[in-house]
Amino acid sequence: MRREEESLDPEDWEEFRQLARQMVDDMLAYQQTLRERPVWQPVPPVVARKFEAPLPLKGQKEDEVYREFRDRILPFPLGNLHPRFWGWVMGNGTPLAAMSEMLASVMNPNVVGFNQVAPLVEWQVINWCKEMFGYPKRASGILVTGGSAANLTGLAVARAAKAGYDVRTKGVGASPQRMVMYGSAEMHFSLPRAADFLGLGSESLRRIPVDAAYRIDLNELRKAIEADLKAGLKPICLIGVAGSTNTGSVDPLKDLADIASEYRLWFHVDAAFGAWAYLVKRLRPLLAGMERADSLAFDFHKWGYLPFEVGCVLVRNSRAHLRAFSRGSVGYLQHEVRGVAGGPTQGIAQYGMQGSRGFRALKVWMALKTYGVDKIARMVEQNVAQAAYLETLIRSSADLELVAPVALNVVCFRFRKRGLSEAQLRRINHEIVVRLQESGTAVLSGTDMGGSYAMRCSITNHRSQRGDFELLVAEVRRLGKEILASTRRAGG
Ligand SMILES: *Cc1c(COP(=O)(O)O)cnc(C)c1O
Repeated sequence: MRREEESLDPEDWEEFRQLARQMVDDMLAYQQTLRERPVWQPVPPVVARKFEAPLPLKGQKEDEVYREFRDRILPFPLGNLHPRFWGWVMGNGTPLAAMSEMLASVMNPNVVGFNQVAPLVEWQVINWCKEMFGYPKRASGILVTGGSAANLTGLAVARAAKAGYDVRTKGVGASPQRMVMYGSAEMHFSLPRAADFLGLGSESLRRIPVDAAYRIDLNELRKAIEADLKAGLKPICLIGVAGSTNTGSVDPLKDLADIASEYRLWFHVDAAFGAWAYLVKRLRPLLAGMERADSLAFDFHKWGYLPFEVGCVLVRNSRAHLRAFSRGSVGYLQHEVRGVAGGPTQGIAQYGMQGSRGFRALKVWMALKTYGVDKIARMVEQNVAQAAYLETLIRSSADLELVAPVALNVVCFRFRKRGLSEAQLRRINHEIVVRLQESGTAVLSGTDMGGSYAMRCSITNHRSQRGDFELLVAEVRRLGKEILASTRRAGG
């Protein structure tokens, strides 16, 4: 008997349609009722063990697998959708974006280039980004997985543009002088890692000390550049931080742009989340100079409120951008005038590291069109106002103190009591952070600030309301007193 040929489409479309509708209904209900659930809860060991089950050789029905998702996966998220999640730097995502991802996945285009509509959507998104962040029309850009990939892309262009020889072909070993770069001690770890990937070595990215407001110290920067020049090294790139991960501090970008042009350095700005403050008129002066960057890295999946993953890099000189990545001619990727292989000569993938690329542009495109830049700017401003509100709550509580100045949307603070040592303060504040998380009340993260432990509240959350911060402060104070009392009882 001849075996029938199979596909992976549903065996019964009607039955699958019912299930798909159920999925949509469940997911909308889930997003609508976020507030009623704890911010976070640990994965129970009995659930964790389910993920040690062996490779399924025989399949099962879609609805059984979906039920398993609903019962064992959905209830144990990281928590970043919740109105009181302020740990690390995360984004919430939106119901609209979740649907956009489904639409993109249904079309499932490979956004390499070709004569199809998806690259047009991505080019339009890139053009809108240039307009949002003060970049010239002739600049180029590409959507990437996030801030780390955007930083790596920017530094790869910097290396190719400033090496002074064909570094892509010859490699860094052929450089007559060691190439060095500069950024502040508060840089995100993805930047030294990018220097490592690019063969320059993470030590070649100099970590310049910061001032009391956690901004790069310009005198120290000049000293470091001069010392490297004197030692016969080749400075190629200066990195500015617009919104540091720890405190949200913004480097003096105008000054950095001037220093970069004085020494003919590539100027890269890591504005992973900080870029969004540029949309707010009142905040723009703080970021002045960002638009002068040769390359600008930012992401949509933190303060742009979209789901993971999507970031972007813009490059002022599109030819330098293309020269850093284009692959020359490849036999199986001939460009044609007509047919599917037609379209623009430079496929979008030639501006980045990926071969096959997903349609991450669609969720950005739909969000920008639906909310408009004005609404996104209002959300960003709302978060900055909430950070300022939290600051006033902290300042008016005798048992709380700020640990760093609040520049944008990040508040570093701690519980304190007179007479407690640094070590005791560290233990108590660390315990507050963990208990807040374990009780499902709120998620903050902790960080080290000049030898002190600080609770870090990073507000990139479109669902937070003022009342959430009042609750946070009340809980932190209550927990602080409770922990203090119990350590005193224990003689600690
Ligand atoms: C998060 C972050 C990055 C890295 O971005 P990912 O999207 O996590 O790869 C880079 N720089 C800063 C300042 C960040 O906050």
